[in-house]
Amino acid sequence: MEPHLAAAHRQAVASLEEGGFPVGAVIVKDGHVIGAGFNRYTQTGDPTTHAEMEAIRDAASRAGDHELLDLLADATCYTTMMPCEMCSGAIIRFGLSTVVVAEVSSYNAADTKSLLEGRGVRVDIRDEEACKETVERYYAEYPRARGARRPSDRRWS
Ligand SMILES: [Zn+2]
Repeated sequence: MEPHLAAAHRQAVASLEEGGFPVGAVIVKDGHVIGAGFNRYTQTGDPTTHAEMEAIRDAASRAGDHELLDLLADATCYTTMMPCEMCSGAIIRFGLSTVVVAEVSSYNAADTKSLLEGRGVRVDIRDEEACKETVERYYAEYPRARGARRPSDRRWS
């Protein structure tokens, strides 16, 4: 796995280790990771704490207010799952150029590929077995979550 996707995957594993849903993301600009985060919905009860949003928040926390839009412009989001509509909206709003998605078999309900591409964001979809296995580990530990978080459910990622 390429290093930035591996970094996103480590974030997903960190969520799993806290009992959370394993989605991780990093934001990369000019080859450097400027933000990282993982899904914290289970941990916080806050439905906006998706991995991509947390990674953007992390990048923002490291930047002065007036630098942030410049910082995120043309950045790349590496994420372990296909972004939902909310996260795609943030990616579009803040001018990221590219989204690299580790795999789409665990979640791909919202047709955000066409949403992102329609707004000029490049979408690069991979097929990373390790990321799928981490999601399967989650369902093995929390089998009752599978019904609540089926791929057709639009709330998660
Ligand atoms: Zn999301």
